[in-house]
Amino acid sequence: MITFSSISATYDGIHQAVESVSFVTEKPSIVGIIGPNGAGKSTFIKAALQLIPSTGSVTADDQPLAAFQRRIAYVEQKSAIDYTFPITVKEVVSLGLYPNMRLLQRIRPTQWAQVNTALAAVEMTDFADRQIGELSGGQFQRVLIARTLVQEADFIFLDEPFAGIDAASEAIIVALLRQLREAGKTIFIVHHDLGKITEYFDALVMLNQRLIAYGSVADVFTDANLTRTFGDTIIVKGGM
Ligand code: ADP
Ligand code: MG
Repeated sequence: MITFSSISATYDGIHQAVESVSFVTEKPSIVGIIGPNGAGKSTFIKAALQLIPSTGSVTADDQPLAAFQRRIAYVEQKSAIDYTFPITVKEVVSLGLYPNMRLLQRIRPTQWAQVNTALAAVEMTDFADRQIGELSGGQFQRVLIARTLVQEADFIFLDEPFAGIDAASEAIIVALLRQLREAGKTIFIVHHDLGKITEYFDALVMLNQRLIAYGSVADVFTDANLTRTFGDTIIVKGGM
């Protein structure tokens, strides 16, 4: 169980980018976070994970964030990893080991085996020794997902992982996320394609600065909530 309580954040001290968002995710699940551009989806994740100044709290199984930080993996919207940086695919994945290692501790053979397993899970084994600059957007996203696998996190936050990637990469990632859910993990995904909501998600956070609705997709993915979230101009879901 993960509980978000009154998560708020402001960038300028005046306008709230995210205002008092609270909800509880009880079971291992894949949770979509949707809302229009600028709704505060990325800010909500960063605020909840205390990566930016914010108020409110997150608890997992009644433990405060500080106590379960190592159980969290996060792939930000635009990865901070510089594409031109000379680093190989397997080195990027191995970075996921560091939360569980002491600084400058050497990676052991068993841990390289974990890296290889993660690369296999995202079908990137053949690319292990490539430079990341040689990858397509979809391949790079798969490598970032592999990095979260070696972290063995229980809570995974992905900010627009499918934006601009190929259909094959998206299918590989979705299949893997379903396996992770079966293994007891909870995955939060910021997403913008309304056409895939019922296919991909168990629960939905509908956000526009404030929480508009939270619940099972069956309960909250309604035309009325879509209009409240996106405004009147949205093409309702039947048309997408
Ligand atoms: P979303 O991810 O839903 O598109 P964001 O969380 O990126 O929305 O942005 C929410 C609001 O906060 C927007 O009005 C955006 O312009 C503003 N914002 C986002 N990042 C910053 C920042 N680094 N500095 C100032 N304002 C920001
Ligand atoms: Mg965003």
